[in-house]
Amino acid sequence: MFDLTGRVAIVTGGNGGIGLGMARGLAAAGARVVIAARNADKSKAAVKDLADRGGDAHAVTTDVADERSVAALVEATLGRYGQLDILVNNAGINIRKPVQDLALDEWHRVLNTNLTSAFLCSRAAYPAFKAVGHGKIINIGSMMSLFGAAFAPAYGSSKGGIVQLTRSMAVAWARDNIQVNAVLPGWIDTELDDMAGVAVFLAAPASDFVTGTAIPVDGGFSVQG
Ligand code: NDP
Repeated sequence: MFDLTGRVAIVTGGNGGIGLGMARGLAAAGARVVIAARNADKSKAAVKDLADRGGDAHAVTTDVADERSVAALVEATLGRYGQLDILVNNAGINIRKPVQDLALDEWHRVLNTNLTSAFLCSRAAYPAFKAVGHGKIINIGSMMSLFGAAFAPAYGSSKGGIVQLTRSMAVAWARDNIQVNAVLPGWIDTELDDMAGVAVFLAAPASDFVTGTAIPVDGGFSVQG
């Protein structure tokens, strides 16, 4: 139920932080992992980290906010591994400013990196998922998908949007046997592996009847009184 042997996963922003933690989990479960991020040196180090742990990983330098770069990412993945089964839309940035101080280009930068990227990557992955007859998309939201973000309005909007994009794709692609879910992390300091378990679950056959959900992984933060 949790075996990912033979599966191929793209993890955007997988060269550090939560993305690398999830990449480690997917690789440990048997998946071959493509790390997609902009900083080639960091991605190279992440590939080495995964290889040192016995994983099969590859890096593709990618700007997830750029349509052509995303198309090239999927092409490179298919060129390297011949298939794509799992997409983790994890890349994200935050600009901490209240609404009145936020410039339009800052708003666009956050929305493009956090939300438009998930649309672009999912759309680019869809034909590859159709080709193998299944697919798993894991979108990374935030506590700011649930709560108001006084000092991060663009971030909060992007993370709220991630949940609705998740639901829309889940409904649209249910007939294609593609499950789309979101994970809403609590506060995470490092690339500790708190998100690895939920990532493996949502990437594996164990979650084949789970779609359109947004799962908080926050140690209970979002339900405290
Ligand atoms: P980090 O800042 O550690 O990592 C962000 C990753 O995104 C990096 O790998 C970075 O790589 C990549 N990235 C940023 N912009 C782009 C881009 N345009 N194209 C490709 N890759 C990009 O963040 P975290 O690990 O903390 O966060 C990961 C995700 O989890 C984000 O979506 C974040 O919003 C979410 N999250 C984090 C929480 C936390 O407490 N840490 C809490 C809730 C949600 P590079 O610079 O090489 O491109």
